[in-house]
Amino acid sequence: MTVFDDVESQVRSYCRSWPVVFDTAVGSRITDVDGKSYLDFFAGAGALNYGHNPPALKRPLLEYLARDGITHGLDMYTIAKAEFLRTFSEVVLQPRGLDYKVQFPGPTGANTVESALKLVRKITGREAMINFTNAFHGMTLGALSVTGNSMKRGGAGIPLVHATPMPFDNYFDGTVPDFMWLEKLLQDAGSGLNEPAGVIVETVQGEGGINPARVEWLQGLAELCQRHGLLLICDDVQMGVGRTGPFFSFEIAGIQPDIVCLSKSISGYGLPMALTLIKPELDQWGPGEHNGTFRGNNPAFVTATAALNEFWRDDELERATIAKGERIEAALSGFAAASGAVELTPKGRGLARGLQFGQPELAAKVCAAAFERGLLMETSGPSDEVMKLMPPLTITNDELDEGLAVVGEALRSVTEGVS
Ligand SMILES: *Cc1c(COP(=O)(O)O)cnc(C)c1O
Repeated sequence: MTVFDDVESQVRSYCRSWPVVFDTAVGSRITDVDGKSYLDFFAGAGALNYGHNPPALKRPLLEYLARDGITHGLDMYTIAKAEFLRTFSEVVLQPRGLDYKVQFPGPTGANTVESALKLVRKITGREAMINFTNAFHGMTLGALSVTGNSMKRGGAGIPLVHATPMPFDNYFDGTVPDFMWLEKLLQDAGSGLNEPAGVIVETVQGEGGINPARVEWLQGLAELCQRHGLLLICDDVQMGVGRTGPFFSFEIAGIQPDIVCLSKSISGYGLPMALTLIKPELDQWGPGEHNGTFRGNNPAFVTATAALNEFWRDDELERATIAKGERIEAALSGFAAASGAVELTPKGRGLARGLQFGQPELAAKVCAAAFERGLLMETSGPSDEVMKLMPPLTITNDELDEGLAVVGEALRSVTEGVS
């Protein structure tokens, strides 16, 4: 492993938790150079919702490359882009009664968040944003300014301004009425709150600790935005593309955000790709006003189209995701009930699941113990106090049970004797 120590920057992080060299991966399993196979409860932080190298996506990708299809295309018109747009409209937008223009903002989650923030500021002529406690929206300066984590914010090296954090759902354990704080500040001419352009929210906070906002809370937020003329951005970068069950995580609340950010699993193959979905009347960009060299990642369009055709023409995946999520929830509740002095709280929605530890340091220890037993799982939350279970949506029930048994063993090995 010396090449990594010798050449790669200290900034690397996941590889420190999993210090082996990985080589191949299929479905829900990833294999290292020594041939040891690991069950993947990490799934590229939500970029591999259909698992590693799914055959239904790999085939068209290989065919596309073999026929010298365009790889790099900026935002030129290509067959791959046309097919993706047509399929996205037909399979995702139309059946849900959603009307959005599709912007390709550059291939990362941070790219779509930056474009969304720019657009709401341009439309409203205002600069202030409302974000939420424990939000995560990416590592570039605009996205960081609406992100909660103090360590990540500290990396900016300059003041992060023009954003005001408000309490996310359940921040006060139900002791303060929802939106009392935000609505009061918006109404009070003496509050000192700069009139906001918009609000950016995750329906389930992934990096923030797998915190699901209740349906009523999301509906309340959408109504509040309407009352006060604030544009609502839903950052569905991690929870979209089926992670919580439905294609868009906000569908369960019946709301229609003004702007939606998608990335991680939209290409379906782990290829970089992002979308910013914009209500038509808000598509007020001038040509080239926001651009980027890698907006037209055509191989990603090919796999994204194949993924929509393979997984989203019926509701089978959505129903399976919800059922598998409940299977995890049941296992986590069992662990919590049997944990004695160790305080464990299951949380999550769909196949975004977490187990929160009363003693934060134990979460990483259990993840390390799981790795030794052949399972990848990361932590999240402000103190890394949440063990995050995010397997591919396509994991089989047998693999899921196998993984949950490993998690249970790892948990027992770490918590035995803890009081
Ligand atoms: C991962 C993530 C981002 C940032 O995506 P990058 O591709 O890492 O820039 C933004 N928002 C949410 C909710 C995310 O989970």
